[in-house]
Amino acid sequence: MVNQANPFQQFAYITSAHNLKQLVPDTGSEVAFAGRSNAGKSSAINALVSQRALARTSNTPGRTQQIVFFGQDEKPYRFADLPGYGYAKVPKKLRQHWEHTLGRYLQSRDSLKGLILVSDIRHALKDSDRAMLNWAADSQIPAHVLLTKADKVSKNKAIQTHRKIQTELVSYGQTCQIFSVLKKIGVDEARKQVSEWLEVF
Ligand code: GDP
Repeated sequence: MVNQANPFQQFAYITSAHNLKQLVPDTGSEVAFAGRSNAGKSSAINALVSQRALARTSNTPGRTQQIVFFGQDEKPYRFADLPGYGYAKVPKKLRQHWEHTLGRYLQSRDSLKGLILVSDIRHALKDSDRAMLNWAADSQIPAHVLLTKADKVSKNKAIQTHRKIQTELVSYGQTCQIFSVLKKIGVDEARKQVSEWLEVF
């Protein structure tokens, strides 16, 4: 069968939402991607769909402040790319709008089956990451952390950080893994997690 190896390879841009009223209908299943600006979220999404530029990678953190949906017409599952947070230059009003919106999104979205949180392995986890994970736990949404840019630390350091954060997450039933787009570490593992949540087989 075509694309059996990667069910997300044909994913395309669907639409963007600036507020909860603009979300795509709450049917089927959805996995959301969250993370601080510049943590490597767009790169991770592109790696998962095996496309070079579906999600826009950028060196201008905090620029996109919308929820972007990716999917494929006839498929009942999709990705929701949440706005990057933690970027100091985003105006306070906009930041507050998104904190509120993201919290409500996690609490109210019936089709949401899981949250992928990306966090730079050198800085994981920041308070803002923990806030997202807490919201997910409160809403009984399973969460899985990608410790990104693992190529930037030694193998030992990566293993140590993974162990430490996994211990921290276990009481919430959440998981984490080492990830690097550059060295292609953990891409299959992450895709497997997303596929399981979306019940794509
Ligand atoms: P986003 O703001 O979270 O969507 O982050 P991007 O995906 O745009 O990545 C931010 C920067 O980090 C870009 O310059 C990427 O090339 C870089 N980056 C992303 N993933 C990796 C990785 O696995 N290793 C390295 N070394 N750099 C990465």
